[in-house]
Amino acid sequence: MIKSMFLTAAILFSGIVAADNFDQALSELEAMLQNQQEGANHYLDTLSRDYAKLNGNQKARFLMLSGVKDLYSGNYQTSLDSLSKALSLASSQQLLSQILSYQATGYILKRDFSNALTSLQKNLAMIERLGDQQIQAETYLRLAGLYYQMELFEDVGLFANRALKLVSKDDTKNTCYAKLYVGAYAIETNQLQQALSAFSETREYCQLHGWQLTAAMATKGEGRAASELGDWDKAKQLLLDALNLYIKLDYRREIGSTQGLLAQTYQKSGDAAKAKYHAEQVLALNASDERAKKIAYEVLANLYAESGNYEQAFKAQKLEQQYRMELLDATKAKAQAYEAAKFNAVEQQREIALLNKEREQYLAQQNINERERSNSLMFSIIFFGSSLFLLIMLLAGAIQRNKYKRLSQRDGLTGVFNRSTGQEFAENRLIQLMARNQSFSLILLDLDGFKQINDSFGHGTGDWALKKVVEVLSALLHPEDILARFGGEEFFIALPGAGVDKALEVAERCRLAIEGIDTHYSGHSFELTASFGVTSLNEDDLSLDPLLHRADLALYQAKSSGRNQICVELGKKGSSKSVLTSGAQSLAQTGQ
Ligand code: GH3
Ligand code: MG
Ligand code: MG
Repeated sequence: MIKSMFLTAAILFSGIVAADNFDQALSELEAMLQNQQEGANHYLDTLSRDYAKLNGNQKARFLMLSGVKDLYSGNYQTSLDSLSKALSLASSQQLLSQILSYQATGYILKRDFSNALTSLQKNLAMIERLGDQQIQAETYLRLAGLYYQMELFEDVGLFANRALKLVSKDDTKNTCYAKLYVGAYAIETNQLQQALSAFSETREYCQLHGWQLTAAMATKGEGRAASELGDWDKAKQLLLDALNLYIKLDYRREIGSTQGLLAQTYQKSGDAAKAKYHAEQVLALNASDERAKKIAYEVLANLYAESGNYEQAFKAQKLEQQYRMELLDATKAKAQAYEAAKFNAVEQQREIALLNKEREQYLAQQNINERERSNSLMFSIIFFGSSLFLLIMLLAGAIQRNKYKRLSQRDGLTGVFNRSTGQEFAENRLIQLMARNQSFSLILLDLDGFKQINDSFGHGTGDWALKKVVEVLSALLHPEDILARFGGEEFFIALPGAGVDKALEVAERCRLAIEGIDTHYSGHSFELTASFGVTSLNEDDLSLDPLLHRADLALYQAKSSGRNQICVELGKKGSSKSVLTSGAQSLAQTGQ
């Protein structure tokens, strides 16, 4: 496998690298970083010459892998610088998530646990928005790895199991890692039997699919579980297998810790020489971590004490103490960072919840306001609408009533008051004026020879004449005066406030106006005149009736006196007189 990678690398970087092949080259570099660090370093140097030709995501990926290389070689700050540059260039979410994971690793190695957790949380928040199950699986896996470094083992189990559920069956590499972390969770939470079987299964699976480094880690885990369970032989065998694999892969950090486990196992099983050998191997390696060194000094202190070398034992114990304190500080720092992050997260969640609640309340309030608004609007509309409707109905009713009243009060042909209405109004006015001792007069008039007009020119001409008479009379009268059609071609005019002289004056003007009607406009030419009976209110009168009666008498007199004239009948003094008009005079003169 490694051979084939070098082959590809050789082909790719022999100067005929096509732009499309950079992604493939980067993928191979990534695989090499995990399995063969020396080769990967060389590969990185070669690829860096083509850096300018890479697109944004490829540059980001290159910088990320360069950062990974620096992580492995312990240049944490250089690594973090490359990673933050990579973050600014990456555009794919998958890549961003990967960079954030390595950034978290860098911070962990630098013991900047607070920033490590920030990167972790950013990553988690980002991937939970992603729909892609595969990417989610990969990220959960990286998170499991990072939580392992943070010694947050419950989270390791949580994310490892999540990853295992989401990872595709074809993705043997990530399945292999997920299984490894499930084992790691078990052993760190002291579930030794589960750890043993989980690591055993992982080792077989990873070996089968060619994931050697992970297989080595599983082997080491299985060996550690066996050791802790007191199965020394099994433990020694597995740990030695793991050691050989790490040496083969040149994975130095793990070499140190495996040597440490071997030293512990040999010591517990009573093989002092081998225990001493492996402990010294740990300390000879620069890459060994504090945990491995602590274990090595612990083993050595015990061995020296057992052999009575108390001075050496004391020295070893002092160094063991030193690493123990360093580890304790790191653990404390991790725990503190974790607590702070958790507190922040809880605070944030509380704030978010509060904001959500406030927003909910705000929305609810808005909803209520909206409903109130629409209710009041609806109410207003209904109220206004119904008010308007009622008003319209009232108006319409009033108009209608007025119309009907008007219609019922009026004469259909001429539009003046009908007899009953005219009489009623006249009567009311009369009573008011009687109370104030004021004058009141009444004129009754009847068109002359009207039957003849109808008979000669048709009913239509008769109607025209009636309307024309009303028109001219209306023009002469005051608004106070009451004109009514008394029936047929007979009209009465009530003159409130008018004495007999005034009434005679009005009657004469009416007589002249009727006489002056130009009948040509009817389509026929005929004479149109009227006879008038006039009376006025006297002290004996208690109602309109006697006045009507006297006016009628006067009218009769005017008719019998030759028509087109005015007669007056004042009643009380028994005096009735005819007022001969000029027309009547002329009629009289012509002998008609
Ligand atoms: P006199 O001078 O004595 O009053 O004679 P006259 O023909 O006017 O009187 P008479 O009472 O004999 O006739 C009245 C006529 O008026 C009879 C009737 O047909 C007519 N008349 C009554 N009302 C109307 C009406 O509304 N339209 C028309 N065209 N004629 C009407
Ligand atoms: Mg008449
Ligand atoms: Mg008549």
